[in-house]
Amino acid sequence: MPELPEVEALARFLSERTAGTRIASITLASLSALKTFSPSLTELAGQRVSGVARHGKFLDLGTDDGLHLLWHLSRAGWVQWREDVPSTPVKPGKGPLALRVAFVSDDGEPTGGFDITEAGTQKRLALYVVTDPSQVPGVARLGPDALSDELTEEAFAGILASAGRSQLKGVLRDQSIIAGIGNAYSDEILHAARLSPFHPCTSLTPSEVAGLYECMRRELTVAIENSVGHGTGTLKAEKKANLAVHGRAGQPCPACGDVVREVSFASSALQYCPTCQTDGKLLADRRMSRLLK
Ligand SMILES: [Zn+2]
Repeated sequence: MPELPEVEALARFLSERTAGTRIASITLASLSALKTFSPSLTELAGQRVSGVARHGKFLDLGTDDGLHLLWHLSRAGWVQWREDVPSTPVKPGKGPLALRVAFVSDDGEPTGGFDITEAGTQKRLALYVVTDPSQVPGVARLGPDALSDELTEEAFAGILASAGRSQLKGVLRDQSIIAGIGNAYSDEILHAARLSPFHPCTSLTPSEVAGLYECMRRELTVAIENSVGHGTGTLKAEKKANLAVHGRAGQPCPACGDVVREVSFASSALQYCPTCQTDGKLLADRRMSRLLK
């Protein structure tokens, strides 16, 4: 699932290519993905793009006339840039294609376009056409962005204090508390900060809070630097190559050489390094203990 760094890289990539062009055509292939009905999708056709922005993990293509196409890629969604947009008609409900957008310059020359796709059978991709991004419930609920100026170290300490005994991992990836971090970067940030994912928020020392804040900002900033400049085709592989523990159970920790371990849940898993994060202690894994019974 794309998180803050990849969504930021996608926003910059799409903004560079579309700002100042006009939407030539917009075709919905997955009818259930569109969550709004007014303004209609067709009202976007002909409008000039002002740019593409990011709100948490949402992308926002804005027009000079004040319309916004917002989308959340969820688990299996992606954006694929196309230098040449196929002219063959889009068949609704067939395959991974959810939405196709094509752009033209002022003199009508095609300037490319993009497909929003979703793999798999579980359809969670969500598209919205609104006059204000905050009309999207998921955007209205967002906490301060993990990289915003607003989220100072002091504000971050306050957030952790009010989260009480909640575990760090859950708080870091709760979009209504801090926006932009998901399963992968919460693993990476906690590994860099040498903290257990299950550590209760309130029992951190001031220096642990400062360290966690610094690691959060650094991990995300470095990931953006690694992601920017990658096209929509190579971004996912770029993210994977730079992860230290996330998705790497059984492999050596790049910091200490210990084996990266996993805790699995119903529909996800977290990874951590016992030596770096839990004083060598193995965290209970539901699936493993069930297998051993
Ligand atoms: Zn380690």
